[in-house]
Amino acid sequence: MVESDPRRSIPRTDHLLALPEVIAAGERLNQATIKAIISEVQTAARAGEIPVAEVAPTIVSSLASRSASSLTPVLNATGILVHTNLGRAPLSPAATQAITEAAGYVDVEMDLGTGKRSKRGTGAKAALLRACPAAEDALVVNNGAAALLLAVTALRGRGSSGTAASANIDPVRKSASPTAEPGEIIISRGELIEIGAGFRLTDLMTTTGARLREVGTTNRTHLADYAEAINDDTSCLLKVHTSNFRVEGFTSSVEVAELCTLADEHELPLLVDLGSGLFTPDPALPDEPDIDTALRAGADLVIVSGDKLLGGPQAGLILGRTEAVQTLAKHPLARALRTDKLTLAALEATITHTANPIHDALHIDPDRLRERTETLAEAVGATIVEHDGRVGGGGAPGVPLPGWAVELPEACAAPLRRGDPAIVARVHRGRCLVDLRCVPDSEDNRIATAIKRVRADNA
Ligand SMILES: *Cc1c(COP(=O)(O)O)cnc(C)c1O
Repeated sequence: MVESDPRRSIPRTDHLLALPEVIAAGERLNQATIKAIISEVQTAARAGEIPVAEVAPTIVSSLASRSASSLTPVLNATGILVHTNLGRAPLSPAATQAITEAAGYVDVEMDLGTGKRSKRGTGAKAALLRACPAAEDALVVNNGAAALLLAVTALRGRGSSGTAASANIDPVRKSASPTAEPGEIIISRGELIEIGAGFRLTDLMTTTGARLREVGTTNRTHLADYAEAINDDTSCLLKVHTSNFRVEGFTSSVEVAELCTLADEHELPLLVDLGSGLFTPDPALPDEPDIDTALRAGADLVIVSGDKLLGGPQAGLILGRTEAVQTLAKHPLARALRTDKLTLAALEATITHTANPIHDALHIDPDRLRERTETLAEAVGATIVEHDGRVGGGGAPGVPLPGWAVELPEACAAPLRRGDPAIVARVHRGRCLVDLRCVPDSEDNRIATAIKRVRADNA
């Protein structure tokens, strides 16, 4: 054999496992992970993607650079604050520290004074109630969708005819017939939303066995539409913030305060799903609803996400009247949707501390943003253009956040994304736009270096 296929001489697994660097990596990584990396590199060599001589060095360097998880930190240069594909809100330094501190054993359910079992999440709840004085009680679950699921489930059987459930019990079989529980949720046709990746809030609610009673039309719903729909089967009135789209023109919807009067007349709970979750009105987003206003207007329960405009960890926050919140807290489903200690720690830290990357990006000083963008454009030899940032991910739909970006050829986007650091810019109309709104100042130099490298490679 003179010319054997070099791919046949790919180093064998046992040989590779015996390399001193690979043995050393075993102190950090387990064998399954090491073998997976070895096999990946062997496969690449077999496919001719890397030369045989590079197999061992590639394995050694991938083992050395292997980070704790496969999630790659990204610099968000899209100008979109709450970017769903990039993990929504970046955590504040205080929240990050809180997570590290809570990672070990912590007194999440123990009173260290008495040594007795205590309630979970009291710190986060107290912080929430201080931030929202209009709320009597609060509950934290895994995300906004979980909060809605729990609310819709727990509010069943609390219809206007409190006796409806028992009245429908079949006297012979002594069991509830399928329609025994009042399970109708009244919602406007203008508020039936899909929240992304094909998930519809309407589907989520009907999985609980609840029925949706849609009222009004896509563009206009009036108080009378709700009033006419109320019946013995009604379990609650639901108002959902149309957080990811806008209907313009001949429109009309019913305010929380008006719905509250109607709900009170019929002794029905009023549930408001706000999505994005500002505690109080923010002048930068005049049309974005907030928790405090909704509660003051009379909502029994308000639901928001922790990782949208609040700038915290993924969580579903439920705030409102004690009785309503407790109905949810005591439901068995609440246990299945409870948050872990890390979320509770990060949420409390987010609420109690001032520094917050989402807040900073929303309220960025326009002069400072322009100055940074100009400096970057000069450093990389590109031009600066006007560019609107966005809240993104379920908040302030269509509201522009005026700013600037460095304009590059579209071809720069992919190498910037694949580079180290990974930089995700906005690709728009054949251009690659680098918006520094959501980038910490301290990263500007790294971005400049990365862009220069990409432009040199592309030249
Ligand atoms: C985002 C959103 C949800 C879902 O919240 P998650 O935290 O993503 O589960 C529900 N309702 C509205 C109005 C939203 O904007």
